[in-house]
Amino acid sequence: RVKEKWAATRPKLPPTRLAVHHFDATYSTQLGQLWPSVRLAMLSERKYGALLNNFSHNAALTELKAQGCVDFISEREKDVPSCLEEKSEEPSDVSMKSSDADGEQLSLSPNIKCLVFPRGDVTRFKPARPDKNGLLGYYLMDAASLLPCLALDVQEGHSVLDLCAAPGGKTLALLQTQAIRFLCINDSSVSRTLRLRKVLHSYVPKHFLTNENLRITSFDGTKWGEIESNTFDRVLVDVPCTTDRHSLMEDDNNIFSKNRTGERRRLPQLQLELLLAGIQAACPGGEILYSTCTLSQNQNLSVVEQAIYQAREKDGIHLQVVDLRPLMRMFGNTFHFAPDLHLGEMVIPHLAANFGPIYMCKLKRLT
Ligand code: SAM
Repeated sequence: RVKEKWAATRPKLPPTRLAVHHFDATYSTQLGQLWPSVRLAMLSERKYGALLNNFSHNAALTELKAQGCVDFISEREKDVPSCLEEKSEEPSDVSMKSSDADGEQLSLSPNIKCLVFPRGDVTRFKPARPDKNGLLGYYLMDAASLLPCLALDVQEGHSVLDLCAAPGGKTLALLQTQAIRFLCINDSSVSRTLRLRKVLHSYVPKHFLTNENLRITSFDGTKWGEIESNTFDRVLVDVPCTTDRHSLMEDDNNIFSKNRTGERRRLPQLQLELLLAGIQAACPGGEILYSTCTLSQNQNLSVVEQAIYQAREKDGIHLQVVDLRPLMRMFGNTFHFAPDLHLGEMVIPHLAANFGPIYMCKLKRLT
């Protein structure tokens, strides 16, 4: 009998294949019959949006409109599919703020503009061009990544912390509001922080990037609450995650590589620690936006649930979940949202609108 030598002969699967297997196992249960279409979209070319740079003097808006793009924020249609009006019951241990009941509506900054090609149109954007001062006209990013920035609802004079900021797409969107009194930008990776600095210099005039307006650091964000607690009006916690689309498409720098298994398994704990630090950094009455680009329940809802519980039990901080359904109603024609999430909202990829995944949940500090 010939002995099979598995260890020596079995081909090593590339990380992208390991990611597909992992997602098939977990998301087919989590998303049920939605998974095959979400899977197909995630394995297809993603769609971008062009975040307009208000600091640039070139005619990007006119040019992009001439190509058929629309600003999905200001030119949104009012009709939203009726399925988005339905929502399952909230869990009893989590208090939801019903914006409708409170009469409190999300106010969208008129300065954040993002152009997209219409549904089903997969035209690619040309690279942005610099104006006479060298500032680029737009920044290409997943248009759904703007939703956490819009949901953060930055108001005039706010102090804002962007805890995991690099390479800086959301930072740039927050700066477009031109409402922030002081912006604290942090990312623990020194090389990625350098990239972020380059992005800022390509898009924002020097006089906006002074020490009075802005601070850039490379600290471990999990320690932020110990350094600067009860301080910020708004905190964005855009955590490292399994970056599902990247994991499916690129073998380089893939978190499903065998040598990164430990790092991948530790992600939910790191995410929890970052969110708790962000909660501590916010002032009482302040708001925190948690976001990821994964579909994983363990990295999304479970992290938020744990954070709400631990903030209350360990730090005596009581939080309220802010209802983001208004945002979902506003942008239901541009993005596909996951139905029946009891905590937060999630954009799920779809072939006709291939943005996301983006999960977001907003918390308000009551104490
Ligand atoms: N917000 C960014 C944007 O819009 O361009 C994307 C952020 S990315 C999803 C997550 C970031 O978290 C990475 O740049 C990573 O370097 C950073 N990170 C990982 N661990 C961290 C930690 N302990 N503290 C702060 N940042 C961390």
